[in-house]
Amino acid sequence: MRCLLPLSTLLLVGSAFGAETPTLTAIRAGRLLDVAGERVRENVVVVIEGDRIREIGTSVPAGAALIDLSGQTLMPGLIDAHTHVLLQGDATAADYDAQLLGESLPYRALRATRALRIALEHGFTTLRDIGNEGGGFADVDLKRAVARGVIVGPRLYVATKALAPTGAYPIQAGAWELDLPRGVEMCDGPDACRRAVRDQIAHGADWIKVYADRSYYKKPDGGFASLPNFTVEEMTAIVDQAHRTRVKVAAHSITPTSHAIALAAGVDSIEHGDVLDDASIAAMAKRRVFWCPTLTVTDYVAEPRSKTNPIWRDLQQAVKDSFRKALAAGVPIALGTDVGGFPWDEINQAEELRRYVALGMTPWQALRSATVNAAEMLGESGALGTIAPGARADLIAMREDPLRDITATERVSFVMKGGVVVKR
Ligand SMILES: [Zn+2]
Repeated sequence: MRCLLPLSTLLLVGSAFGAETPTLTAIRAGRLLDVAGERVRENVVVVIEGDRIREIGTSVPAGAALIDLSGQTLMPGLIDAHTHVLLQGDATAADYDAQLLGESLPYRALRATRALRIALEHGFTTLRDIGNEGGGFADVDLKRAVARGVIVGPRLYVATKALAPTGAYPIQAGAWELDLPRGVEMCDGPDACRRAVRDQIAHGADWIKVYADRSYYKKPDGGFASLPNFTVEEMTAIVDQAHRTRVKVAAHSITPTSHAIALAAGVDSIEHGDVLDDASIAAMAKRRVFWCPTLTVTDYVAEPRSKTNPIWRDLQQAVKDSFRKALAAGVPIALGTDVGGFPWDEINQAEELRRYVALGMTPWQALRSATVNAAEMLGESGALGTIAPGARADLIAMREDPLRDITATERVSFVMKGGVVVKR
């Protein structure tokens, strides 16, 4: 029997683990958002058996525990597809170095348990944690601890160490005679990169993360460019090796310089993608390469980073233009915030949704990015990001209507993950 901390905000009404007779729970909801079908259903009863949704109807089955959310709006749990649970804000290089040099990995893992609880209470029932910044394979341990009920948190898809070639990622400067911690695993040449991919997958990586570029700058003609990290041969080897074992690849890629290499190699998602050119947009739309725009972190770092390099203000504007173009062209967008790049306890990840709506998404499209689309990118269509028979019982509710005011998603009143109520 698992034991959870008696937190005042946590109420455990069922267990997804080990029960011989699955718990039967019924949620009566005033309104249910069918995000996939973009339709509102009124006065429904969602029946949950164990950790999955059994049916959606209008009556409460005999023997079911009733949760009455008559005055509320129910929708699938949110998915943030770009997070760093082992980081706590790195607006500047100094913030980053302080964590990698000044904090032990056990300390960072302990703080990550708080980050996970914050995310869950904000309605994020699934995270794709996309690189742990010097954290070894601690993200695999965190995932395991959540899955076993040792700690409370969203279900996790993890990328472990991430990849960049020698000299392309911090920490680089400092006393050369010391073996400083690195925020990534470094690999050079196709064979070494294949080996790195194999090792990360062997240790539990669900995704491979590559840093495709760095040192962003503006060319004399006003266009954006960057230093590409991997060669086409290296990037192709990484993607091929991952895909051989059905593992997908996410590429941190800011400008067209590196989008071209990453997309030619066949990556599955572009992260940040601040400057999307027409060729990249066309390729992403055609091949359904997902884009995680991470607008919240772009806003967070623009001011502190522009003190030393004005490019960060330019990128803040560029990503807005990219968003409008990508949306119009039908690029699949999965909500990603880069939380961890900003502190978990200062900004609610759900703010990303209001940024999407401000740039032209309908509320339905924004909700889709955080549910149906993110689930598709994870290869979990039908199981996550939807309220349907057979899907995981990951559900949230709010008192206001997010279709009228998308910021309602920042005030979640009820959270269930895998059939277990974690906030009420
Ligand atoms: Zn990131």
